[in-house]
Amino acid sequence: MVRAVNIHKRFGDVRVLRGIDLEIPRGSVTCLIGPSGSGKTTMLRCINHLEKINSGRLHVDGSLIGYREHNGKLHELHPREAAKQRRDIGMVFQHFNLFPHMTVLQNVVEAPTRVKSVRRKDAEQRAHELLDRVGLADKARMYPLQLSGGQQQRVAIARALAMQPKLMLFDEPTSALDPELVGEVLEVMKQLARDGMTMAVVTHEMGFAREVGDQLIFMDGGVVVERGDPRDVIGNPQHERTRSFLSKVL
Ligand code: ATP
Repeated sequence: MVRAVNIHKRFGDVRVLRGIDLEIPRGSVTCLIGPSGSGKTTMLRCINHLEKINSGRLHVDGSLIGYREHNGKLHELHPREAAKQRRDIGMVFQHFNLFPHMTVLQNVVEAPTRVKSVRRKDAEQRAHELLDRVGLADKARMYPLQLSGGQQQRVAIARALAMQPKLMLFDEPTSALDPELVGEVLEVMKQLARDGMTMAVVTHEMGFAREVGDQLIFMDGGVVVERGDPRDVIGNPQHERTRSFLSKVL
């Protein structure tokens, strides 16, 4: 579903991604871990072209992301075209980013009606189904700030799913939550994985990575230091940098 080849990304003089290769097979879960500043968020944002890469190739479901290739040269897509590609990629952020002035239902209905021209009635019916799926069927009329952080994050997941994405990107979805609320969000993500969603998850939740991840990628300094089956990487890390990082988070 995702194929990234030799991705480089700079912010000014700072080289944040220095040749990342990444494969995420359809229906699988990849967890990205690594110290602060290692480039995990930037990598995720490159996958849906919220950040422009400086070099490399990034494909999602066979489509080159952000560019069109013509006679061996890359031409940047018009922002409208890039936005179209992004519709198929759901993103969930650390800080939920819900629309505070809209009810839970309106938050979930907004994108499909506005961007995909789904009829309101159909979008609402689907929104109710999704809210039920994330355990919030009774919260449709509430406003985000009337909900707990865990509930808000589950709304954010329902909102992303409303666009029927092929791929879901999660950027530290539980790190802003009180510890007792983490489990309910991870449970929704586990269910999503069981339902066959392709997922890339930046996380410090090693239990989740071990239990749900098909692949664990440890990044440091803008490169992939180690990757593999999460149980192997966590249980028997091959690199000193991985060992040192894991000793701090486990
Ligand atoms: P964290 O776990 O702290 O979120 P991360 O591994 O996700 O870290 P990134 O957020 O990808 O790391 O950041 C990698 C580096 O890129 C950092 O040094 C950061 O300061 C820098 N960076 C990220 N976004 C920008 C930006 N828009 N402009 C300039 N520098 C940026």
